[in-house]
Amino acid sequence: MAAGVELGFAGAAAPGEAWRLRSAHFPSKVGGRPAWLGEAGLPGPAALRCGRCAQPCALLLQLYAPLPGRADAFHRSLFVFACRGAACYRPPGPRGPLRVFRNQLPRRNDTYPEEPPPREPPPASAAAAPPRRLRSGAALCRVCGCLGPRACGRCRRAAYCGPEHQALDWRRGHRRACAQPGAAGDLEDAVPDHNEFLFPEYEILIEPEEPESPADSSVDPDDEEGAVDTSENSDKQEELRATGSANEALECLDEETLEAMAKHETEDDKIFQKFKERIAAEPEQIIRYCRGGEGPIWVSGENIPEEKDIPNCSCGAKRIFEFQIMPQLLNHLKVDSLGESIDWGTLAVYTCANNCNEGNQYTEEFIWKQDFSAGSM
Ligand SMILES: [Zn+2]
Ligand SMILES: [Zn+2]
Ligand SMILES: [Zn+2]
Ligand SMILES: [Zn+2]
Repeated sequence: MAAGVELGFAGAAAPGEAWRLRSAHFPSKVGGRPAWLGEAGLPGPAALRCGRCAQPCALLLQLYAPLPGRADAFHRSLFVFACRGAACYRPPGPRGPLRVFRNQLPRRNDTYPEEPPPREPPPASAAAAPPRRLRSGAALCRVCGCLGPRACGRCRRAAYCGPEHQALDWRRGHRRACAQPGAAGDLEDAVPDHNEFLFPEYEILIEPEEPESPADSSVDPDDEEGAVDTSENSDKQEELRATGSANEALECLDEETLEAMAKHETEDDKIFQKFKERIAAEPEQIIRYCRGGEGPIWVSGENIPEEKDIPNCSCGAKRIFEFQIMPQLLNHLKVDSLGESIDWGTLAVYTCANNCNEGNQYTEEFIWKQDFSAGSM
C-alpha cells in the first residue's frame, strides 16, 4: 500500500477526439456528461441534488481507478458531482454542494468486452454524440447526462432529470424540435455536446509524482515566486488576509487573544507554506491520488477532518483517503466572475477501505471541503 502519489493534469480534448472520453474507453476526465461505468444502480435525480440549494449537481470529474488484485474491481470509477451555485460553497466541511459515487465491475461483465478498447476512433460518427440512453434502455437527461425519468409532455421523446433541465433545454431550442414529428424531430433534436450547465470537458492525464530531491526542499527565492504566481488562489488568500486584518478593530482585543491569533496564524502559514512547496515542482496538478497511502496535503490548519469526522461506509467498514482535488482545477472550470464563485482550497475524497460491492450499484462515498484560511476573518 506504500505506493507513491500519482498526479492528474487537465489536457484539452482535441476536436474529434470526444470518443476517447466515452464510457467504452474508461476515461478519467473533468466536466462534460458522466461517462457512466456500470449501467445498474445509477444515482437518481434526488441523490444528485445539492445538499444546500437542492438544485441538480453537474459532473465535476471522474477518475478511472481500478484496484489491481481485486477481481470485482477490474474496472472501477469514481464520480464527483458539484453544485453550480457559488453561495453553496461558503460553509466548509462535508458534502453540501458536493457528491461522490463509486462503481466497479469485474472483467467479465454484461456491458464491456473483456479485451481493452481499441485506440482508434470508432468507425461511425454516431458514436461521438452524447448517448441519449443506456444500453439497458434507461433514458438519460438531455442536459446533464444523468438518469432522466421525466419525459417531455408534448413529444414524449426528450428525457430530463427534473423540471430545471427541462426548462433549460426548452429555452435552448427543444421548443422548436418538439413540434416536429418523428424522425425529423429526432434529427433536429440531437443532443448538443455542451451546454451552460456542464463544466468544460478535459481529459485527465495521470503521471507519478517525482520523489522529492533534497535540492527541492531548499526553495530558492526565484522558485518560490514562481510557485506563488501559478496559483490564483494563493494570491486570493493573501488578499483576503490583508483585508481581513485591515478591517479588524484590533484595539478592542485583549493581549491574550492577539497572542492566540498570532500563534494560530503562524501555524496556518506553516501548513500553507508546506502545501506550496509540495506542489511547486508540478504547479498545474489538479489531482493527487494515493489510495490508502500518504494522506492529503492541506491548505490550512483550519477544518482538517479528524477520524471521527469521516463516517464509515454503509457496509460498516472505515473509509480511507483515496485522492484530493486541487484548487488549480478551478482555473479550468471558467467559474471566475467578479462576484462570488465556486471555490475551495482542496477537496479530499475518502472511500470504503474494503471497497465493498453491493450488487454492482453506485455507492456514495465521502468528500471533505477545506477552504483557504482567511486569517482573522
Ligand atoms: Zn447548491
Ligand atoms: Zn439533468
Ligand atoms: Zn418535447
Ligand atoms: Zn463499504
